[in-house]
Amino acid sequence: MNMKKTRFKNKPIILTLAVVLILQVFGIILFFFYSKAKSEGEGLSKIVEQSSKSQQDYSDGEDELSQQTEHESDNGNSSGSDSENDSGQSETPNEQQAINFDDPSANCPEVDLGLPPGPPGYKIDSADWAAYPTKISPVTKDPNDLLVLVNKKFQLPQDYEPEDLTDLGVTEVRGSSGKSGRQVIVDQLRSLGQAAKDDGIDLAVKSGYRSYDTQIATYNYWVSVEDGNESEADKYSARPGHSQHQLGTTIDFTTNECGDCIGDNFTGTKAQAWLSQNAWRYGFALSYPIEGEFYTGYLPESWHYRFIGVDNAACWKDSGLVLDSWLFQVGQ
Ligand SMILES: [Zn+2]
Repeated sequence: MNMKKTRFKNKPIILTLAVVLILQVFGIILFFFYSKAKSEGEGLSKIVEQSSKSQQDYSDGEDELSQQTEHESDNGNSSGSDSENDSGQSETPNEQQAINFDDPSANCPEVDLGLPPGPPGYKIDSADWAAYPTKISPVTKDPNDLLVLVNKKFQLPQDYEPEDLTDLGVTEVRGSSGKSGRQVIVDQLRSLGQAAKDDGIDLAVKSGYRSYDTQIATYNYWVSVEDGNESEADKYSARPGHSQHQLGTTIDFTTNECGDCIGDNFTGTKAQAWLSQNAWRYGFALSYPIEGEFYTGYLPESWHYRFIGVDNAACWKDSGLVLDSWLFQVGQ
């Protein structure tokens, strides 16, 4: 056996070495391909992971938003923590949209404060300041944009109706039930109502969203009140397509102090004073201010507020411009 082994000793060694060598070569090749495949696989899975993560972030945001909305709708009382008068520790819409109240203009767009009087987009004859321009144009932005300018020159499409209309009753503001407005105003309207309540101010919603067709009826009603004199109605009532109420972001407020009045009796009430001081903090801008008719084409309306977003409202307020003039400059 030993002899035999010895005799064939070299042959198996050579064979073994050859096999080992071949296996090594195969091994190296296999390892090379494996590594390559692995790194490509990892790269791919990383991309998949990243994309699903960003999708996750997106849906998380949506979930948070809907949870927040649900939570707040279910429990109106808890929305007290949204108010700035409250030290609310939880994250609230107000805190999320925190603005620098010391210097609200820090991130604001530049605007020209030296504008000549006149509504944006057309010239008026001061003797006939409420007249519509001869040429009416469609609005220049998406009507869903919070900064779209709607005035006597720029008209909303007849078929425009916001897709996110909701019953404003969820805001718990008195009178809001049965009135509709865009979802985008809900949180801030709720906060505004709560803050007013905390300050002992009675505030109610008198009017919210109005469709194009409703505005036809509204305008015609006021024309009939003016015995068919459209020029008189034009001083305070918008023609169809020209009303900010069609945006779903505009609210007419009232208060029990004036018996839930509509119109000028609201001026001078505590609620009116409170709104003029505080509404902008919740993203609501006074559209038709005192002595603003030469910029807006409308008589003052102390009760009519349009939501433009919290940050935007801070910038608008800081500019000191009439809302339409500010929108014309920053929003077009
Ligand atoms: Zn109004």
